[in-house]
Order: sequence, then structure tokens, then C-alpha cells
Amino acid sequence: MTKIYPQAYFENIITPIDSANISIASSAVLYGLSVYTVFPIIFKKQGISAFRLQDHYIRLINSAKIIGIDTFEKDWNFERFTKAVKELIQANTIDQLVFIRATIHVTDLVPGTRSRGLATNLSMFIYEANPIIPQNGARLKTSVWRRIPDSSIPSRAKVNGAYVNSVLGKQDAIDSGYDDCLFLDTQGHVCELSAANIFMVRDGILITPSQSSDILEGINRKTIIEIAKSLNIQVIEREIDLTEVYIADELFACGTSAFIASIIEVDKRKIGYNVYPITQKIKKAYDEVFSDEDNQFFKLI
Ligand code: PMP
Repeated sequence: MTKIYPQAYFENIITPIDSANISIASSAVLYGLSVYTVFPIIFKKQGISAFRLQDHYIRLINSAKIIGIDTFEKDWNFERFTKAVKELIQANTIDQLVFIRATIHVTDLVPGTRSRGLATNLSMFIYEANPIIPQNGARLKTSVWRRIPDSSIPSRAKVNGAYVNSVLGKQDAIDSGYDDCLFLDTQGHVCELSAANIFMVRDGILITPSQSSDILEGINRKTIIEIAKSLNIQVIEREIDLTEVYIADELFACGTSAFIASIIEVDKRKIGYNVYPITQKIKKAYDEVFSDEDNQFFKLI
């Protein structure tokens, strides 16, 4: 069982997690009308460090904007958000890598299927940072469910209700004995896993689906691209066919809860040739980001 820390942030105060509850009549519960993000927190010698906190805040705000949740930003900004994150951390005793899940819930009661002008509430809680897929050799199954297209529920908005699509894909994969699913879009191009982005290596080039491929614009995806470029690895963002994945030299998933996970099998096809030199190079640099005292990605808050 994942450890959840006892103190949460809810209705602008620190409160025991058991009393941080949302009404069964709220849009958050009735329609999944909440947007969220998850980010890692590390304790370093100099203090508490958060991974790309501003990027996470911006994506959260943008998710709300896409969905039409328009009341949150009136009262909040990045400074206030950072202060709330600090309060939450200080209210708990933490000595390991943890994740914070921050969610903007629409809390109006029975307002019908709409989004504007409704009450919102920010909740945050801390939990143990366990990887969601095996780190060295995950096995994927192409999902029988397609990724929801941008024209239906946009993947770049991290909206709770849309995660039913991820649940369907992941459960289908688990039921068939795999670790996770590989989502395709409605045209059959590769999108992502249930909660992670995907990269493949072909002929020494790192390739990932573009931002217009019905994917979540992952903050780790962006980090991997930056790291790869700094290592002089060529990166291309473009459409990917499923059969390209089958014959990739290397394949890996990335995300906050996936970290960097090498993928060794897709639909019973063994990927690559046992060694993943480019993945290893990127993983080493990524791991250093977590262990270095201070760097451009983990910043003291
Ligand atoms: N895609 C989906 C659908 C996700 O839920 C996640 C996890 N947030 C990701 C990709 C990876 O995003 P990030 O790197 O920001 O965690």
C-alpha cells in the first residue's frame, strides 16, 4: 500500500487528510471536474527542493483554462502556490523522495454540466514515490482503447475525468499479463502509456510523438528532450507508427511516477538488443538531477 502522509492542504489550511473531503454533490465528484498535477519533492542538504515547480503550476493553470475552470486564478498565483506547498511539507515529517498531488476541484453543488464561474478548491497531499511500472524491462500491450483525441477531451489538459481512459487501457494491459498499455490515437499513431510519455531510439536518433499527438505535455518528456540535446543526442518529435516501435533499437517511458523505465517488449515483440546505450546515458544524467545538490530542474523552495 502506498504511504499517504497524514497532513493535507485543503480549503486554504493544513488539515488531517481524513477530514479533507469533497461533497458527493460537487462537479468534482459528479463529472470528474478537477485538474491536477504531481511533482517530486526531495530533501537536500540545503533544504526542500521541488522538481520544476513553476512548470507544474503553469500546466495546472493551463489545464483549468482549457477546461474552462475560470475562478481559480483570481485568488492564486505561483508565489501563493509555493507558500502552500512549503506549509504542507512542514506539516509532515518527510525524509525520502515523495510526490505531491495538487488538484483544483470544482466544488459547486449540482451546477449541471458546465465549468465557468463555479467555486474551486485546491487540495494537496503527499505520498510515497513508488514507480508505477518496472524500471528495467517493462512490457506493454497496445490498448484496445484509443487515446481520447484533442477534439474530445484534450490530453494536454490533465483533467481527472479523462483518466477513465487511462484506467481502461491500464486495466486491459494488466488483465492480459502486461505492465502497462501503449495508447494509439484514432489514426493508429503511437501516443503514450496510461500515465507516461514514450521515447524510442532508431539509428541513434531519439524520437517521441509530437505535442500534437494527443499526449499529455509531460514535464519529464520536456526534461528528457533538454537532457538529450545537452548530450548531443539528436531528438525528433513526430508521428510514430506502431510497427516502428516493434523494430526500435531502444524504447523507454518517462513521467513523474514512471521515472525512466526501459521497455523490453510490446505485444510479444522483443524490443532492441538487450543493451540500451542511449537510454542508459539519458537515465544517468536524469538520476544526477535527483541527486545533485542544486540544479536547473530541482530548485530549493
Ligand atoms: N502522460 C500521462 C497521461 C500522464 O498521466 C503522465 C503523468 N503525469 C505523463 C504522460 C507524464 O507527465 P509528467 O512527466 O509531467 O509526469
